[in-house]
Amino acid sequence: MYYYSTRDEKREIKLTASQAILKGLAADGGLFVPSQLPELSSSVSLDLSYPLFAYETLKPFFEGDELLDDLKDICEGAFNFPVVLNDLKDTSVLELFHGPTSAFKDFGARFLAFSMEKLLVKKGEKLCILVATSGDTGGAVASAFHKRQNLSVKVLFPKGRVAERQRRQLTCWDDNITSYEVRGSFDDCQRMVKSAFVDPSLTGLSSANSINLGRLLPQMVYYVYASMLYKARTGKEPVIIVPSGNVGNSTGAFWAKAIGAPIEKIVLAVNANKTIPEYLESGEYRPRDSVKTLANAMDVGAPSNMERLFNLFKSYDEMKANVTSYSVSDEEIKKTISDEYNKEGYILCPHTACAERVRLDHYKDDATIIVSTAHPAKFETVVEPLIGKTVEMPPALSKLVNMPSNYKEISTDYKELF
Ligand SMILES: *Cc1c(COP(=O)(O)O)cnc(C)c1O
Repeated sequence: MYYYSTRDEKREIKLTASQAILKGLAADGGLFVPSQLPELSSSVSLDLSYPLFAYETLKPFFEGDELLDDLKDICEGAFNFPVVLNDLKDTSVLELFHGPTSAFKDFGARFLAFSMEKLLVKKGEKLCILVATSGDTGGAVASAFHKRQNLSVKVLFPKGRVAERQRRQLTCWDDNITSYEVRGSFDDCQRMVKSAFVDPSLTGLSSANSINLGRLLPQMVYYVYASMLYKARTGKEPVIIVPSGNVGNSTGAFWAKAIGAPIEKIVLAVNANKTIPEYLESGEYRPRDSVKTLANAMDVGAPSNMERLFNLFKSYDEMKANVTSYSVSDEEIKKTISDEYNKEGYILCPHTACAERVRLDHYKDDATIIVSTAHPAKFETVVEPLIGKTVEMPPALSKLVNMPSNYKEISTDYKELF
């Protein structure tokens, strides 16, 4: 098993999983993909605990890698929270929000943090992770890297432009995590990170981007797990509907299907950012600026992981045969959240509501799993007015938002970070 860049079709440069994880982005600007998608082994069994299930699923992807002997430890450290397939009346919901920051990004961020820690301790090296965030990603990364050896994190967020509950999740850390409130916009924060990366006097910097292979691989595991569990319960292979933005989560689903997970079909639910459904309709791929929506973690007009799907499905015909996508408007998101609560008593976050809308409009009579990417309490300002009551926070989230805030306010000069 080796990894190569999506922009190196001849596969001239071959990396191990560990090298790809430490590198993040390939030198040619492409994204790392596995040299093969090996068939699921019979040792992947629902009798295993989730961490061991993950270990068995991921083992072939670390064949010959220096992390292979640590992989079990990494899975046990990273996946220390439940993965729930909740059966509602008409569909099952794969709840990926039971981790420390109540969103699916905990899976990828934690696997990446535990993998990097093992690699750095072995090499006796240190890395500092820089993250610019407008909300969710920074919290998941800070939480995942908190107290991991040989690693530190600097989180940058724009002053006055993140929701109060989100700000609290970005500033409740200590030890190896430092938070910076930047007197500027999210774009300024991103620019500061980029300037630091190209400053030759600064070394040992890295990112924890959602395009990192170390975040993608673990996002495959819960699709294998959920589809096997669904089939064991119902005898059927589900259509899986994934709320999508950068398409990292759904790429995990396509890789899971490719290695043999019992999945009938994968459907991408997007918000008003329609780049993918328009491409599937017209054959012309047109990335663009994003538009703001209520499902803001999916506000992406140029989804970076499409490059991995173009690598997996080589022609437009193949893409159309495998990928289906529908767009959901803010009005439909609101209506779906309130209808679902009134009819079923189940509370959806705005992202998950996109998947449920797509199910109701297109897959009502099919065997389905909708993917829930975040707990509704994270988006209380959208959800609470629609359902007319407070959404109780899960204990992990409530612990974070009630801790004292700890951050430095700085200008938009990146030198203030060091
Ligand atoms: C990041 C995120 C998404 C989008 O996931 P992608 O991998 O970017 O497609 C959806 N929902 C929530 C809550 C998120 O945080």
